[in-house]
Amino acid sequence: MVVIGAGALGLSTALHCALARRSVVVVERFSAGSQASGRAAGLFKSVQADELRTWLARRSIVKALTFADWAGVPLEVARSGSFLIARTAQHRNYLLRELEQSARWGADVCEAGPAQLAGELGYYRAAGEEFALWCPEDVYIEEPLSLVRAYLDACRLHGTVVLENEPVTGITRMYGRVAGVETTERSITAPVVVDAAGGWVRQVAELAGARVPLAPVRHQLLITAPTPEVDPADPITRVVDAAVYLRPARGGLMVGGFEADPLPVDPRARAASFSTDDVLLNLGVLEVLAARIAAEVPVAASAPVAEHRGGLFTMSPDGRFVAGPVPDLPGLWVASGCNGSGFSSSPAIGEALAAWITSGEAPAGMETLAPGRFGALPDAVLVAHGMWQYAHYYDPVSSGAEAATPAGASGPD
Ligand SMILES: Cc1cc2nc3c(=O)[nH]c(=O)nc-3n(C[C@H](O)[C@H](O)[C@H](O)COP(=O)(O)OP(=O)(O)OC[C@H]3O[C@@H](n4cnc5c(N)ncnc54)[C@H](O)[C@@H]3O)c2cc1C
Repeated sequence: MVVIGAGALGLSTALHCALARRSVVVVERFSAGSQASGRAAGLFKSVQADELRTWLARRSIVKALTFADWAGVPLEVARSGSFLIARTAQHRNYLLRELEQSARWGADVCEAGPAQLAGELGYYRAAGEEFALWCPEDVYIEEPLSLVRAYLDACRLHGTVVLENEPVTGITRMYGRVAGVETTERSITAPVVVDAAGGWVRQVAELAGARVPLAPVRHQLLITAPTPEVDPADPITRVVDAAVYLRPARGGLMVGGFEADPLPVDPRARAASFSTDDVLLNLGVLEVLAARIAAEVPVAASAPVAEHRGGLFTMSPDGRFVAGPVPDLPGLWVASGCNGSGFSSSPAIGEALAAWITSGEAPAGMETLAPGRFGALPDAVLVAHGMWQYAHYYDPVSSGAEAATPAGASGPD
């Protein structure tokens, strides 16, 4: 089989197929992990908006922590835990709902009092009135490329061939099904092809005449210069009313978040050479987000910026992964629809997709993530729904936008 794209989702799918003794070739247009996966914040989050995603997220945390045991390659993971914080009554109610449903779905999450916040979260000056949840299962990976490298090493250890700097230029069909791929260097015959091309997933599917319903949207974060105000052992924090996430990073603080009016990006409309480096970054967006928490986390707004990076989320109309067989073209599969969680859910998504590909049976619930679930949505609708999902990443109900919620949409990550 061939996997197109050596990001977290493609490599995990390839690795799990290799572990199931499939012969796998991964073809990557640039270098492995150089696009969205290598720029991720590295956060894993056990509290999710539905039961399947909760299961996938928690399974992924376990797989990350035990990576060496099943993949044969070490992986360093920071077992930090995380706080979810709400400073408005509306968001407090939202977190109370998440507490109830996440606990029902098996996540370890509990209410955190002001003393716990003050005692365990040095970079956050609590006003004492916020409502907080503590999620001890949550972890992060300090440098996202370390997960990519671990996948790469494990793939090679288990016999997978990874071809880098070699774009796929065609997907061949024979007798109504997929027959392989053409790259700039060679033809590869394969009965199964997985489109894991991240922000390029639609144009890769179009090489086979197929349509995958996803809309790439820009996402950005910054890392401040090292500062004594941040203890590297501190946990992750998500201030949900501000749509901001924070964690210690390289001796400073990582600050990322979700603007209300995000920037959609369509690589199909850009030059053929378009890469993540061509995504226009705007530090002003992060400054606005940091200003929302300036009273509690002054360092987020005041410390010098050591790194500003960004890339593309592939947003789906309902905010859920898009993973499974492409309708009407046997042999073509998709591993995408990250909606901002593709890095952290990649261990379990790759595992589940590999089981589906190799057995022909969808693991429980996975059929609900199949790409055919949306029917034929016009591009403009797809983009509008993707932007909505992005803008409401942490608060799908607080803005009074329920009426605009795409049909069937679920909550945020
Ligand atoms: C700033 C930022 C922060 C993020 N933070 C988090 C986080 O904390 N937690 C989390 O879970 N997620 C996070 N994400 C999202 C996460 O990065 C993505 O969900 C994940 O990396 C998607 O993986 P992927 O394999 O689908 O995409 P990618 O990593 O983009 O991989 C796709 C690959 O396909 C290749 N490709 C494209 N076209 C072709 C072709 N024709 N031939 C061959 N190869 C091709 C590309 O070059 C690329 O390397 C973040 C994203 C960004 C941008």
